[in-house]
Amino acid sequence: MNTLITNGKIYVEKGLFHEAMLIQDGIIVQTGSNSDFESASFENHIDLGGKTVIPGLNDSHLHLSYVGTTMRSCKLNQARSIEEIIEIGKNHLAANPDTAALYGRGWNQDYFVTGEKRMINRHDLDQISTDIPIVFVRVCGHMATGNSKAIEILGVDENTAVEGGVIQLGDDEHPDGIFCESATALLDTVIPEKTDLDIEKDFLTAADYAISMGLTSVQSCDIQNVDAQRIFNVIRNIYSDSKTRLRFSHQFNFQDISGLEDYINTELNSDGYDEKFLSRGALKLFIDGSLGARTAFMLSDYHDEPGTRGVSVLSQEQLDDILSLASQHNIRVVTHAIGDGAVEMLINAYEKQMNGGENTLRHGIVHCQITSAQQLERIAALKIPVLYQPIFLDYDIQIVEDRVGEHLASTSYAFNTLYQLGTPVSFGTDSPVEDLNPWENLYCAVTRQRLDGTPEGGFCPEERMDISDAIDCYTTGSAFNEFREDFKGRLMAGYAADLAVLDRDIFEIEPAHIKDVRVDMTMINGEVVYTRQ
Ligand SMILES: [Zn+2]
Repeated sequence: MNTLITNGKIYVEKGLFHEAMLIQDGIIVQTGSNSDFESASFENHIDLGGKTVIPGLNDSHLHLSYVGTTMRSCKLNQARSIEEIIEIGKNHLAANPDTAALYGRGWNQDYFVTGEKRMINRHDLDQISTDIPIVFVRVCGHMATGNSKAIEILGVDENTAVEGGVIQLGDDEHPDGIFCESATALLDTVIPEKTDLDIEKDFLTAADYAISMGLTSVQSCDIQNVDAQRIFNVIRNIYSDSKTRLRFSHQFNFQDISGLEDYINTELNSDGYDEKFLSRGALKLFIDGSLGARTAFMLSDYHDEPGTRGVSVLSQEQLDDILSLASQHNIRVVTHAIGDGAVEMLINAYEKQMNGGENTLRHGIVHCQITSAQQLERIAALKIPVLYQPIFLDYDIQIVEDRVGEHLASTSYAFNTLYQLGTPVSFGTDSPVEDLNPWENLYCAVTRQRLDGTPEGGFCPEERMDISDAIDCYTTGSAFNEFREDFKGRLMAGYAADLAVLDRDIFEIEPAHIKDVRVDMTMINGEVVYTRQ
């Protein structure tokens, strides 16, 4: 099957655009000007009418099936009153009458502007339903509210004690539905466990959404210790039945040797990976927590909380052991490290795994937020891939200087510095932590501003990236993590025909408008998989 694309502004590489390309069996065979193809033979012709085309985007770290789970739950982040929360719940049930249990996330009473400005309780949620259990988790994740049905299912009362947690009592001395800290885990148990079909549906819902946003590949961590084999099976079946064309590289998280050994003995040898649409990806580890919660592991005390340095969940020795096992089996590793203490541990650990001084397995750092100038130099010298989430700036700009002080903040989130030093930099969103929308992500990389346009001129403006460089990080940079930079991420002869047609010229518009870009068409493997209606 041959497809000819003409009249485009096709991004080939920085400063170079072509008008036309010929695709054969999913692979680009030639690019050039319209006139180069006057005598070409083809079955399909797409006239782009002057539109801009970039390679399909590749999110280097997210959690795809959890994106789908989040999409079918109630999003409460925008609610500005208790009444609005009740309304969101009622609307959700009206639209999904088969719902057996209602789960929502993101409420925050600090944002309420009308009515009572208090935490929501079971009486509020009973107005949505008393027939099915409802659990609405506060934005912080450390507090959640259940309705009366949820409390009835749990069988808790005023005498129930939970270690490390609190079941709050109301004025009537009975549980009022608010569960704190470790007690919130109890509420999770009233939500029925996901069936294989639920996992598949969530996965495909999120895959469709990703494709509509111009993503053609994802590197996704859907395996988080529990239920690993079941989820591996579901995802392999999705691909053996060709239920989506989104290319998927399977990251997986085990924090200990035994989990990794199980993987090596089972999934590593299983069939079903065609290395085209479904491929084996990296072991995902995490060392520390988050900057917001001051659990990111720092080399020195938090600027706004002396005496606190965060936590590291792996010791240097545990980290070295699991890395050695992975390296012996040629398994690439990517590790969540946010504080400079975690980054330091990781650079030291990776350095020991180098072969003749080279990072041949391309072990990478996910997040890599707080860094000193000296650490940036070491990362660049060792060619350690960095998997950044520029969209994190939307929140973190508000807190980073408070947390780590102005000096350390000025060498943190150093996208451009590392890129200019030749470090393999890739972009992702960690969705559902943030939306997987790549245009907001690119906007943050280019402007260094929050989505509301602040601060003027951008946070550490020397780290603002050129739009071509930012797109390269999202395409060929991400492909590097998969050892596929010769196959994906460029619109050149010999590469996969994975591309996104845009509604405006992203190379010419004001950076402030990059977040508004919409995708008119997405193509994967030469097939049109999405057209905007
Ligand atoms: Zn993640």
